[in-house]
Amino acid sequence: MNKGMVYFVGAGPGDIDLMTVKGKKVLQQADVVIFDRLINPFLLTDVKEDAKLIYCGKQPCKHTLRQEDIQKEILIHARKGKTVVRLKGGDPAVFGRVGEEAEQLAENHINYEIIPGITAGIAASMYAGVPITHRNHSKSFAVVTGHGSKEDGTPQIEWDSLSKGVETIVFYMGVKHLKTIATQLTKHGKSKETAVLVVQWGTYSKQKTVEGTLATIANKVEQANVTNPAIIVVGDVVKLRNKLAWFDNKPLTGKGILIPSKQLENKELVATLKKHGADVFEHELFTEEKVKDTLSFKQLTEASSEQELVFLSAQSVDLFLKALGEHELDLRDIKSTFVSVNQEVKTRLQMVGLPSFLLEEKALSDPIVVGREIEIETFNWQYSKSLKNLMVAKKKVVNKDIESFTRLIEEEHVNTILLTNHVDVLTFLSFLTVSGVSKEKVLKKVKVVCNGREASLLVKANKIPIDQVLEKNDLAQIVEILEETSLIKESLS
Ligand code: SAH
Repeated sequence: MNKGMVYFVGAGPGDIDLMTVKGKKVLQQADVVIFDRLINPFLLTDVKEDAKLIYCGKQPCKHTLRQEDIQKEILIHARKGKTVVRLKGGDPAVFGRVGEEAEQLAENHINYEIIPGITAGIAASMYAGVPITHRNHSKSFAVVTGHGSKEDGTPQIEWDSLSKGVETIVFYMGVKHLKTIATQLTKHGKSKETAVLVVQWGTYSKQKTVEGTLATIANKVEQANVTNPAIIVVGDVVKLRNKLAWFDNKPLTGKGILIPSKQLENKELVATLKKHGADVFEHELFTEEKVKDTLSFKQLTEASSEQELVFLSAQSVDLFLKALGEHELDLRDIKSTFVSVNQEVKTRLQMVGLPSFLLEEKALSDPIVVGREIEIETFNWQYSKSLKNLMVAKKKVVNKDIESFTRLIEEEHVNTILLTNHVDVLTFLSFLTVSGVSKEKVLKKVKVVCNGREASLLVKANKIPIDQVLEKNDLAQIVEILEETSLIKESLS
C-alpha cells in the first residue's frame, strides 16, 4: 500500500531567509501543509498551487485545532499516500511537540523525517546583539519553558539548580509569567541586578526589545506592552548588546514592505532594502494561466501589414511564441508590423530574429497589443481606451495567495505597500476587490509608497491616498526617505 511521507520541518524564527534549504525543498513538494500560528505567512506562498493548507493556530474567526486533531490530520493524509509537511516555528524539537507527533507515526509505521530549524531563543537573541554563550561571560545556557501545565500556567521548574547552575537562561512562552520568573530566580540565588533582555518578534524587521534587570524587567515589559511571541534572556551576556546590537541599528529596521509583484527590474531595489534591515515581501498575488482561445491567434495570420502588433513585455514575447507553436501556426504568415513598448522588449524580439519599432518611433494606426492580462489593463489605462488585444496569459486568483497577502497585513508583518509600477498598482487594486478586506482597514495599517511618478498617477486616479513618492532609481535616496518616513519604528529599552 502506498503510505505517505511526513516531514516535520522547522520554519525558523521569522525572517524568511532563516529556513533551511532542505526544509524549503520539502515544502515545495508538499501535498498537505499543517502549519502553526507563528509561521511567517510569506513562506506559504512557496507551496504547490493545489497543496492543501491546514492552519492550526489561533486566529479570530478561525477555529483552533487541538493537539489530538492535529495528530489525526497528519495520520489521515499520510495514510492516503500524501506528502505531508508539518511546519513548525523555529526548531520542531524545541517546545514544538515533535516527539509526540513523530511517536504516533512510528507506532503507525508511517515514514517520517525531521528537519531541524533555527530556534527563536538563539536567533532572536543574536539579532538583538546577544550571543548566548561567550568565553568570558557564559559557559552554559538552558532553554526553559516559561509556561507550566498547571491551571494558572505558572512554570514548574527546578529553580534552585537553574539559578545556580546555568549562566544564560532563555525562557520561551514566559512573558505572561515574567514577574514570577524574575522573583523565583532572585529567590534562588541570582542577583537582582542580573541583566535581562526580552525580544518580541525576533528576526522580523518589527523586532522589539526591552532591556532591564531581574528587578526592573517585569514593569518595563508591561509598560512597553510586549506580549508573546517573545523570549526572555537572563544573564551577563545581555550586557554585550551595547556593543553587538547589529540589527536594531539598521536604518530600515522596523519596516515591513510588501511589493505586490516579483519583477526582475526590482532586484537591486529589494536587495538594498533588505540589506538596510527591512523585511521585503515580493508577493505575487496572482498566478497566470494559459489562454485557450485559438481563434484570436489564427486571426493574426489574416492581419495586414498595416496592423501593428505591440508587445508589452519580454515575457509576453516568450509566451506569444510558445502559443504560436502550440497552435501550430507559422510566424512567417504574420504580416503585421512589430512594435516594442521599450528597449528591453525590442532586444528580446531581436534575439529571436524579429526586428521591431520602438513605440515612441511609431505612430499606431490599427494596433493589437500582445501581453498578459495585467499588462493589457495597464496599457489600456495609459491610452484611456480599450485597444484590440491578444492576451497571452490570464491572471488567476489563488485563494492561498490572497490569504497570505491578507495575513501579512492583518498580522502587521507589513506596514508599507511599495508600488513600483502600474502592474503593482493594478494588482493592489485587484487585491482590495477580491480579498473582501476593506480599503479603509488596509490603509489604516499600511502606508502607501510609490516608487516613481508613473505608479503615483494611477494610485491617485483611484483615489488612494499616497504617503510618499520616491524618486525611481536613486537607491541611496530611497533608503534615506524611507528611513525618515515615520513608519512605526519602535525600539524600546
Ligand atoms: N519551536 C519554537 C518554539 C515554539 S514555542 C522554536 O524553536 O523557536 C513558542 C514560543 O517561542 C513563543 O511563545 C516565544 O517565546 C518563542 N518565539 C517563537 N518565535 C519567536 C520570535 N520570532 N521572537 C521571539 N520569540 C519567539
